Amino acid sequence: MVWNAIREICQIVNWAALVWSSKVIPRHFFILWLAFRGRLSTRDRILAYMDIPDANCVLCSGFAESIDHLLAMGIVIFPGSWEDIKVAAQVLSKGSIFHANVFKCGFAAIVYHLWAERNARVFGRVC
Ligand SMILES: [Zn+2]
Repeated sequence: MVWNAIREICQIVNWAALVWSSKVIPRHFFILWLAFRGRLSTRDRILAYMDIPDANCVLCSGFAESIDHLLAMGIVIFPGSWEDIKVAAQVLSKGSIFHANVFKCGFAAIVYHLWAERNARVFGRVC
């Protein structure tokens, strides 16, 4: 009751049900939330405020690393940009309960593991 009185009530984003679904593995929530907010520290974002020696993608080294490149590259069943994928994911996370739940869990896992592999390579651990 006190929480509801003191908290700021904001507009709920239309992807909240997908990102915060009980079907998503808890360790995947945060990365998926950052991805949907466009806040993953991809090299194109880092380059905006810091000079870095290499802005290329660590997974393929052929392109500048951005959220569109990183996540649209890994989720090959979706064409287009990360924004297109976010819209398609919201559609696929609805519908039959079984398929929607499997999709939410798998989608969050793909985003999480792509980001984890990227970080493993950036920070010098094993590939
Ligand atoms: Zn790449």
